[in-house]
Amino acid sequence: MFRGIQRRRHRRGRGGLLRAVVAVVALILAGAAAASAAEDPFAERRAALTRSIERLAAAVYPVAGRAAMMPQVLAALEETPRHEFVPPKLVSLAYANRPLPIGFGQTISQPFIVAFMTDLREPEPVDIVLEVGTGSGYQAAVLAPLVRRLCTIEIVEPLGRSATARLARLGYDNVEVRIGDGYNGWEACGPFDSIVVTAAAGHVPPPLVRQLKPGGRMIIPVGGSFAPQQLVLVEKRADGQVSTRQLMLVRFVPLRRSGR
Ligand code: SAH
Repeated sequence: MFRGIQRRRHRRGRGGLLRAVVAVVALILAGAAAASAAEDPFAERRAALTRSIERLAAAVYPVAGRAAMMPQVLAALEETPRHEFVPPKLVSLAYANRPLPIGFGQTISQPFIVAFMTDLREPEPVDIVLEVGTGSGYQAAVLAPLVRRLCTIEIVEPLGRSATARLARLGYDNVEVRIGDGYNGWEACGPFDSIVVTAAAGHVPPPLVRQLKPGGRMIIPVGGSFAPQQLVLVEKRADGQVSTRQLMLVRFVPLRRSGR
Protein backbone atom coordinates (compact mmCIF):
# COMPACT_ATOMS: atom_id res chain seq x y z
CA MET A 1 0.00 0.00 0.00
CA PHE A 2 1.15 3.52 -0.75
CA ARG A 3 -0.25 5.21 2.32
CA GLY A 4 2.73 4.63 4.59
CA ILE A 5 5.06 6.01 1.97
CA GLN A 6 2.93 9.06 1.28
CA ARG A 7 2.52 9.88 4.94
CA ARG A 8 6.21 9.70 5.72
CA ARG A 9 7.61 13.22 5.93
CA HIS A 10 10.94 13.95 4.32
CA ARG A 11 13.04 16.26 6.46
CA ARG A 12 14.52 19.31 4.80
CA GLY A 13 18.22 19.98 4.69
CA ARG A 14 19.20 16.49 3.58
CA GLY A 15 21.45 16.23 0.53
CA GLY A 16 20.51 16.18 -3.13
CA LEU A 17 20.78 12.39 -3.11
CA LEU A 18 17.74 12.10 -0.85
CA ARG A 19 15.77 14.48 -3.09
CA ALA A 20 16.75 12.44 -6.14
CA VAL A 21 15.64 9.21 -4.44
CA VAL A 22 12.33 10.82 -3.45
CA ALA A 23 11.80 12.03 -7.05
CA VAL A 24 12.48 8.55 -8.44
CA VAL A 25 10.14 6.92 -5.90
CA ALA A 26 7.43 9.48 -6.76
CA LEU A 27 7.85 8.70 -10.46
CA ILE A 28 7.61 4.96 -9.82
CA LEU A 29 4.47 5.44 -7.70
CA ALA A 30 2.89 7.68 -10.35
CA GLY A 31 3.68 5.04 -12.98
CA ALA A 32 2.23 2.27 -10.83
CA ALA A 33 -0.94 4.30 -10.20
CA ALA A 34 -1.33 5.01 -13.91
CA ALA A 35 -0.82 1.33 -14.75
CA SER A 36 -3.37 0.15 -12.17
CA ALA A 37 -5.89 2.80 -13.35
CA ALA A 38 -5.51 1.47 -16.89
CA GLU A 39 -6.04 -2.12 -15.69
CA ASP A 40 -8.91 -1.23 -13.38
CA PRO A 41 -10.73 2.03 -14.07
CA PHE A 42 -12.38 1.81 -10.62
CA ALA A 43 -9.16 1.52 -8.60
CA GLU A 44 -9.09 5.19 -7.65
CA ARG A 45 -12.74 5.31 -6.56
CA ARG A 46 -12.28 2.13 -4.57
CA ALA A 47 -9.24 3.58 -2.81
CA ALA A 48 -11.18 6.78 -2.00
CA LEU A 49 -14.08 4.73 -0.62
CA THR A 50 -11.69 2.69 1.52
CA ARG A 51 -10.09 5.84 2.95
CA SER A 52 -13.50 7.32 3.75
CA ILE A 53 -14.49 4.10 5.54
CA GLU A 54 -11.24 4.17 7.50
CA ARG A 55 -12.06 7.73 8.61
CA LEU A 56 -15.65 6.85 9.45
CA ALA A 57 -14.45 3.89 11.54
CA ALA A 58 -12.02 6.15 13.40
CA ALA A 59 -14.97 8.44 14.26
CA VAL A 60 -17.47 5.70 15.16
CA TYR A 61 -15.24 3.11 16.80
CA PRO A 62 -14.66 4.81 20.15
CA VAL A 63 -18.46 4.65 20.67
CA ALA A 64 -18.49 0.93 19.82
CA GLY A 65 -15.55 0.39 22.21
CA ARG A 66 -13.13 -0.61 19.47
CA ALA A 67 -9.77 0.59 18.20
CA ALA A 68 -9.09 1.24 14.49
CA MET A 69 -10.41 -1.04 11.76
CA MET A 70 -8.06 -3.96 11.07
CA PRO A 71 -5.66 -3.10 8.18
CA GLN A 72 -6.34 -6.45 6.52
CA VAL A 73 -10.08 -5.68 6.42
CA LEU A 74 -9.38 -2.31 4.77
CA ALA A 75 -7.03 -4.04 2.31
CA ALA A 76 -9.71 -6.63 1.46
CA LEU A 77 -12.21 -3.82 0.87
CA GLU A 78 -9.75 -2.06 -1.41
CA GLU A 79 -9.21 -5.23 -3.43
CA THR A 80 -12.85 -6.23 -3.86
CA PRO A 81 -14.40 -5.04 -7.16
CA ARG A 82 -17.84 -3.93 -5.89
CA HIS A 83 -18.76 -2.83 -9.44
CA GLU A 84 -18.89 -6.55 -10.33
CA PHE A 85 -21.57 -7.13 -7.66
CA VAL A 86 -24.10 -4.42 -8.57
CA PRO A 87 -26.57 -4.44 -11.48
CA PRO A 88 -25.01 -3.02 -14.69
CA LYS A 89 -27.15 0.12 -14.62
CA LEU A 90 -25.88 1.01 -11.12
CA VAL A 91 -22.16 0.53 -11.80
CA SER A 92 -21.54 4.29 -11.56
CA LEU A 93 -22.75 4.15 -7.92
CA ALA A 94 -20.76 1.04 -6.99
CA TYR A 95 -18.24 2.97 -4.90
CA ALA A 96 -20.68 5.23 -3.10
CA ASN A 97 -20.95 4.28 0.57
CA ARG A 98 -24.58 3.20 0.32
CA PRO A 99 -26.68 0.07 -0.15
CA LEU A 100 -28.03 -0.54 -3.66
CA PRO A 101 -30.91 -2.67 -5.00
CA ILE A 102 -29.91 -6.03 -6.53
CA GLY A 103 -33.39 -7.20 -7.59
CA PHE A 104 -35.98 -9.45 -5.90
CA GLY A 105 -36.52 -6.68 -3.30
CA GLN A 106 -33.01 -7.29 -1.87
CA THR A 107 -29.96 -5.05 -1.50
CA ILE A 108 -26.18 -5.19 -1.54
CA SER A 109 -25.14 -3.83 1.88
CA GLN A 110 -23.46 -0.47 2.45
CA PRO A 111 -19.66 -0.89 2.21
CA PHE A 112 -19.09 0.56 5.70
CA ILE A 113 -21.44 -2.01 7.21
CA VAL A 114 -19.74 -4.82 5.25
CA ALA A 115 -16.33 -3.67 6.52
CA PHE A 116 -17.62 -3.22 10.10
CA MET A 117 -19.25 -6.67 10.18
CA THR A 118 -16.09 -8.23 8.77
CA ASP A 119 -13.92 -6.42 11.30
CA LEU A 120 -16.14 -7.39 14.25
CA ARG A 121 -15.51 -11.03 13.51
CA GLU A 122 -11.76 -10.48 13.82
CA PRO A 123 -11.18 -12.99 11.00
CA GLU A 124 -8.19 -15.34 11.15
CA PRO A 125 -6.67 -17.19 8.16
CA VAL A 126 -7.63 -20.55 9.73
CA ASP A 127 -11.30 -19.68 10.24
CA ILE A 128 -14.35 -21.47 8.89
CA VAL A 129 -17.14 -18.95 8.50
CA LEU A 130 -20.87 -19.02 7.76
CA GLU A 131 -22.76 -16.20 6.07
CA VAL A 132 -26.56 -16.17 6.00
CA GLY A 133 -27.83 -14.01 3.12
CA THR A 134 -25.41 -14.28 0.17
CA GLY A 135 -27.29 -11.65 -1.87
CA SER A 136 -24.87 -10.35 -4.49
CA GLY A 137 -21.92 -12.20 -2.93
CA TYR A 138 -20.11 -8.93 -2.08
CA GLN A 139 -19.81 -9.52 1.69
CA ALA A 140 -18.57 -13.05 0.92
CA ALA A 141 -15.95 -11.64 -1.48
CA VAL A 142 -14.64 -9.16 1.11
CA LEU A 143 -14.36 -11.85 3.77
CA ALA A 144 -13.13 -14.82 1.72
CA PRO A 145 -9.47 -13.72 1.34
CA LEU A 146 -9.22 -13.32 5.14
CA VAL A 147 -10.36 -16.84 6.11
CA ARG A 148 -9.86 -20.50 5.19
CA ARG A 149 -13.37 -21.47 4.15
CA LEU A 150 -16.60 -19.56 3.76
CA CYS A 151 -20.00 -21.20 3.44
CA THR A 152 -22.84 -18.88 2.47
CA ILE A 153 -26.58 -19.51 2.17
CA GLU A 154 -29.13 -17.60 0.09
CA ILE A 155 -32.88 -18.21 0.16
CA VAL A 156 -33.75 -16.53 -3.19
CA GLU A 157 -32.72 -19.05 -5.81
CA PRO A 158 -31.88 -16.71 -8.74
CA LEU A 159 -29.73 -14.54 -6.42
CA GLY A 160 -27.95 -17.63 -5.10
CA ARG A 161 -27.29 -18.87 -8.62
CA SER A 162 -25.93 -15.59 -9.93
CA ALA A 163 -23.75 -15.08 -6.82
CA THR A 164 -22.34 -18.61 -7.28
CA ALA A 165 -21.44 -17.88 -10.91
CA ARG A 166 -20.02 -14.43 -10.10
CA LEU A 167 -17.83 -15.66 -7.22
CA ALA A 168 -16.52 -18.54 -9.37
CA ARG A 169 -15.77 -16.23 -12.32
CA LEU A 170 -13.85 -13.86 -10.03
CA GLY A 171 -11.81 -16.75 -8.60
CA TYR A 172 -13.11 -16.94 -5.00
CA ASP A 173 -12.41 -20.65 -4.70
CA ASN A 174 -12.77 -20.99 -0.90
CA VAL A 175 -16.46 -19.95 -1.02
CA GLU A 176 -19.35 -22.42 -1.23
CA VAL A 177 -22.87 -21.14 -1.90
CA ARG A 178 -26.00 -23.08 -1.01
CA ILE A 179 -29.61 -22.20 -1.75
CA GLY A 180 -31.86 -22.62 1.28
CA ASP A 181 -33.09 -21.17 4.55
CA GLY A 182 -30.08 -20.01 6.54
CA TYR A 183 -32.06 -19.97 9.81
CA ASN A 184 -31.01 -23.60 10.19
CA GLY A 185 -27.34 -22.91 9.48
CA TRP A 186 -25.17 -25.40 7.57
CA GLU A 187 -24.26 -28.23 9.90
CA ALA A 188 -21.99 -30.09 7.49
CA CYS A 189 -19.78 -27.05 6.89
CA GLY A 190 -19.50 -26.13 10.62
CA PRO A 191 -18.85 -25.72 13.45
CA PHE A 192 -17.97 -22.11 12.71
CA ASP A 193 -15.39 -19.71 14.09
CA SER A 194 -17.77 -16.94 13.12
CA ILE A 195 -21.19 -16.40 11.61
CA VAL A 196 -22.53 -13.29 9.92
CA VAL A 197 -26.20 -12.82 9.20
CA THR A 198 -26.94 -10.10 6.65
CA ALA A 199 -30.74 -10.07 7.04
CA ALA A 200 -32.66 -8.96 10.13
CA ALA A 201 -34.07 -11.70 12.37
CA GLY A 202 -36.75 -11.35 15.06
CA HIS A 203 -34.48 -13.34 17.39
CA VAL A 204 -31.07 -15.02 17.29
CA PRO A 205 -31.69 -18.41 15.60
CA PRO A 206 -30.80 -21.20 18.09
CA PRO A 207 -29.39 -23.51 15.33
CA LEU A 208 -26.81 -20.81 14.53
CA VAL A 209 -25.78 -20.50 18.19
CA ARG A 210 -25.37 -24.29 18.32
CA GLN A 211 -23.16 -24.29 15.20
CA LEU A 212 -20.83 -21.64 16.64
CA LYS A 213 -17.54 -23.00 18.05
CA PRO A 214 -16.64 -22.22 21.66
CA GLY A 215 -14.75 -18.93 21.41
CA GLY A 216 -16.71 -18.05 18.25
CA ARG A 217 -18.71 -14.92 17.49
CA MET A 218 -21.79 -14.10 15.47
CA ILE A 219 -22.91 -10.73 14.10
CA ILE A 220 -26.62 -10.44 13.45
CA PRO A 221 -29.15 -7.63 13.03
CA VAL A 222 -32.07 -8.30 15.40
CA GLY A 223 -35.42 -6.53 15.27
CA GLY A 224 -38.59 -5.99 13.25
CA SER A 225 -38.77 -5.63 9.49
CA PHE A 226 -39.87 -2.02 9.30
CA ALA A 227 -37.94 -0.32 12.11
CA PRO A 228 -34.19 0.05 12.55
CA GLN A 229 -32.69 -3.09 14.07
CA GLN A 230 -29.93 -3.58 16.61
CA LEU A 231 -26.68 -5.03 15.31
CA VAL A 232 -25.94 -7.69 17.92
CA LEU A 233 -22.62 -9.38 18.67
CA VAL A 234 -23.16 -12.88 20.05
CA GLU A 235 -20.13 -14.44 21.72
CA LYS A 236 -19.82 -18.08 22.79
CA ARG A 237 -17.18 -18.39 25.48
CA ALA A 238 -14.76 -21.28 25.71
CA ASP A 239 -16.99 -22.84 28.43
CA GLY A 240 -20.03 -22.61 26.11
CA GLN A 241 -21.69 -19.63 27.87
CA VAL A 242 -23.32 -17.25 25.41
CA SER A 243 -23.40 -13.46 25.81
CA THR A 244 -24.89 -10.78 23.57
CA ARG A 245 -24.03 -7.12 23.09
CA GLN A 246 -25.94 -4.48 21.12
CA LEU A 247 -23.62 -2.41 18.96
CA MET A 248 -25.59 0.05 16.87
CA LEU A 249 -28.80 0.66 14.96
CA VAL A 250 -28.86 -0.67 11.39
CA ARG A 251 -31.42 -1.30 8.67
CA PHE A 252 -31.38 -4.66 6.89
CA VAL A 253 -33.93 -6.52 4.77
CA PRO A 254 -35.84 -9.14 6.83
CA LEU A 255 -34.65 -12.71 7.30
CA ARG A 256 -37.26 -14.76 5.48
CA ARG A 257 -38.30 -18.26 6.44
CA SER A 258 -38.92 -20.99 3.90
CA GLY A 259 -42.40 -22.49 4.01
CA ARG A 260 -43.79 -19.71 6.29
N1 SAH B 1 -24.57 -10.07 1.99
C1 SAH B 1 -25.32 -9.50 0.90
C2 SAH B 1 -26.46 -8.65 1.41
C3 SAH B 1 -27.69 -9.26 1.03
S1 SAH B 1 -29.18 -8.62 1.67
C4 SAH B 1 -24.43 -8.75 -0.05
O1 SAH B 1 -23.26 -8.50 0.30
O2 SAH B 1 -24.88 -8.44 -1.16
C5 SAH B 1 -29.76 -10.03 2.55
C6 SAH B 1 -29.94 -11.30 1.76
O3 SAH B 1 -30.44 -12.28 2.68
C7 SAH B 1 -30.95 -11.23 0.63
O4 SAH B 1 -30.34 -11.64 -0.56
C8 SAH B 1 -32.05 -12.20 1.07
O5 SAH B 1 -32.65 -12.88 -0.01
C9 SAH B 1 -31.29 -13.15 1.97
N2 SAH B 1 -32.09 -13.89 2.94
C10 SAH B 1 -33.20 -13.48 3.60
N3 SAH B 1 -33.65 -14.46 4.42
C11 SAH B 1 -32.79 -15.51 4.27
C12 SAH B 1 -32.71 -16.81 4.85
N4 SAH B 1 -33.61 -17.24 5.76
N5 SAH B 1 -31.71 -17.62 4.49
C13 SAH B 1 -30.78 -17.20 3.58
N6 SAH B 1 -30.81 -16.00 2.97
C14 SAH B 1 -31.79 -15.15 3.33
